[in-house]
Amino acid sequence: MRDRLEQLKGEAWKRIAEADETGELDRIRVRYLGKKGELTELLRSLGSLPQEQRPEIGRLVNELRSQLEGRLHSRLDTLQTEELQRDLARETIDISLPGRRPAVGRKHPLNQVLAEIEAVFMGMGFEVVEGPEVELDYYNFEALNVPPDHPARDMQDTFFITDDILLRSQTSPVQVRIMEKRQPPVRIIAPGKVYRVDLFDATHSPMFHQVEGLLVDEVTTFGDLKGILQVFVSALFGKGRGVRFRPSFFPFTEPSAEIDIECIMCSGRGCRVCSNTGWLEILGAGMVDPRVLSKVGYDPEVVQGFAFGMGVERIAMLKYGIDDIRLFFENDMRFLAQF
Ligand SMILES: [Zn+2]
Repeated sequence: MRDRLEQLKGEAWKRIAEADETGELDRIRVRYLGKKGELTELLRSLGSLPQEQRPEIGRLVNELRSQLEGRLHSRLDTLQTEELQRDLARETIDISLPGRRPAVGRKHPLNQVLAEIEAVFMGMGFEVVEGPEVELDYYNFEALNVPPDHPARDMQDTFFITDDILLRSQTSPVQVRIMEKRQPPVRIIAPGKVYRVDLFDATHSPMFHQVEGLLVDEVTTFGDLKGILQVFVSALFGKGRGVRFRPSFFPFTEPSAEIDIECIMCSGRGCRVCSNTGWLEILGAGMVDPRVLSKVGYDPEVVQGFAFGMGVERIAMLKYGIDDIRLFFENDMRFLAQF
């Protein structure tokens, strides 16, 4: 038994001295001191020794155990110090390197323009409201004076989900939803995404952003509409920018107009951008058709309203001289970082 202990001690000392990483020490600890470790087994077998030998051998085993623990511990200290030194040597920080400037995010150009548009109209007392992008046919078309067989439905090819559910092709349904819930005066703008079946090319995108506005009150005239849109154009494109109203047609307004501004590029002299007309179309507007008002329960004999709508991408493209709508959606930082 004594020889066995001496032998075990010799082996253990050798293993500990040769261990070159802390994990190895753990394995040595388990090998000798674990539940099924060699020394533990030895201690368990004491019962089979003659009675008179037991105290002496027991003492020796315990002595070896505490020596072993002591050695493991001091070897662990040494290895940990060495590992730390190695890590420190490897992870040296070069304080002469210039720091990395953190990338600062910024607003997407469309959000910037949208915020500008909202600020102008909020300044004139309009409230910003939102509505669902997945919309009922009723709100997108029927309530806006576009019954199922109306030819105006061909003007906007729409993404239908079912026969009566669609991706809204304009933000006007929000106006109807608000009018159903409130009594005049109503003074709102509704910004948001709209969807149309269109090719994705330099001037078209199947998804784009609109801002539509609506004002309904007891005395509302086309003159008020002109005044408000003049203020809007001056705020976004500069004071003194020429504005003209051209007669047009929309199903939910009567009379309707398309509004042009003096070309940003040539100030009205005529250029490639404005097809030599000197004018650029920026929005559509008109007096709300009395039938739209009746449908939501308003009395067109008492209240009138006007509505207008514009594409945010179009406004941004004109304002910044961008000639391809796809740039807004390609997430190219070289483009986005310019705004
Ligand atoms: Zn021009």
